[in-house]
Amino acid sequence: MRCTSPATKLAVLFLAAAAPVACDAQTRPGQGREPTLPAPSITEYKPQSTLVVPEHAVPRAKFPVVDLHGHPPTLNSREAIEAVIASMDELNIQVMVQARPSSGDRLTSQIEAVRDAGYADRFVFFASLDFNRVGPGSGARIAAQLEADVAAGAVGIGEIGKGFGLSNQKADGSRLAMDDPELDIVWETAARLGIPVFVHTADPPEFFEPLDYSNERWLEMALFENRRFNDPARFPAFDDLMAERNRMIAKHPNTTWILAHMGWHTHDLATLGRLFDQHPNVHAEVGAVLYDLGRQPRFARAFFEKYRDRIFFGKDSFQPDEYPYYWRVFETADEYFDYYRDYHAFWKLYGMDLPDDVLRAMYYGNALRVIPRMPVAGFPAR
Ligand SMILES: [Zn+2]
Repeated sequence: MRCTSPATKLAVLFLAAAAPVACDAQTRPGQGREPTLPAPSITEYKPQSTLVVPEHAVPRAKFPVVDLHGHPPTLNSREAIEAVIASMDELNIQVMVQARPSSGDRLTSQIEAVRDAGYADRFVFFASLDFNRVGPGSGARIAAQLEADVAAGAVGIGEIGKGFGLSNQKADGSRLAMDDPELDIVWETAARLGIPVFVHTADPPEFFEPLDYSNERWLEMALFENRRFNDPARFPAFDDLMAERNRMIAKHPNTTWILAHMGWHTHDLATLGRLFDQHPNVHAEVGAVLYDLGRQPRFARAFFEKYRDRIFFGKDSFQPDEYPYYWRVFETADEYFDYYRDYHAFWKLYGMDLPDDVLRAMYYGNALRVIPRMPVAGFPAR
């Protein structure tokens, strides 16, 4: 602790243990002053960085990529398919997983359209599950639909949305718990079919916290009412959802789990590391958490190196101009650059400068190993 006012030094010596921050606000010159001009609002203040450092734009990924968390438009026409392919080619995305909910006809019509358009080696499809009004017998019904969808060509389950755990209700009106025994047959069917389960649980932990001026996501929560899960009368707590998800995982050690958004643990990667250590069948995907990875480039790099076999690339929303931010964070050592959404993060990003073997594993190696029947055309021979 450094306090500049000698008059307070003695008092500080005695008070330091009890109130270590007391001197900061009160005695540092200028600290705690009110602006002498009207202060801008949170949306008005846009400071422009004057820092001049090397910059490396990365419009195209260094290696071919599997986007595990693809949300392109419905791929049911040649026009829709070719528009997505044009962006994939520019970005070096070799294969996109269609993770928008689809099952039955909605799934098979897309699989057929992609095949008819000649792009069967550029898209793979995950099947969605119908968690509507789960009751006795629902598990067997969902598992049967899953078998049919996999027979039609699906190679995974997902994306299971955040409603699973947060808000999906059973037939009796109670909340459907993720570890509800009725669903055990579904996860066991996935294990038997050898397909991964791609699941999004909860949302960033800040969304479950009070919306006050110390909340890191104040602006986003203020902008989007549907991102507030901080009413305990309506939603389970973040930690309770994580514990429930972990019980579901622990019950099914032969099922391959892929946690969307790195399980919303990027603010505390050590917690995700413990989950990886406890469960070798758990993996994670990096969509929409770049704001957290890019503010801890050294710790995140060490984590990605240690758990290189567990991490998949995924983007979530399909905005082609946003992918290069991911390439830049993963591939360069650039410093203090902007993120693409100011309401996600008020801070700047830094490059993780990942080694090539870690990039290869995240970009395509892990996906080719874990997802069955993946097209291999376009990827380096292994
Ligand atoms: Zn998603």
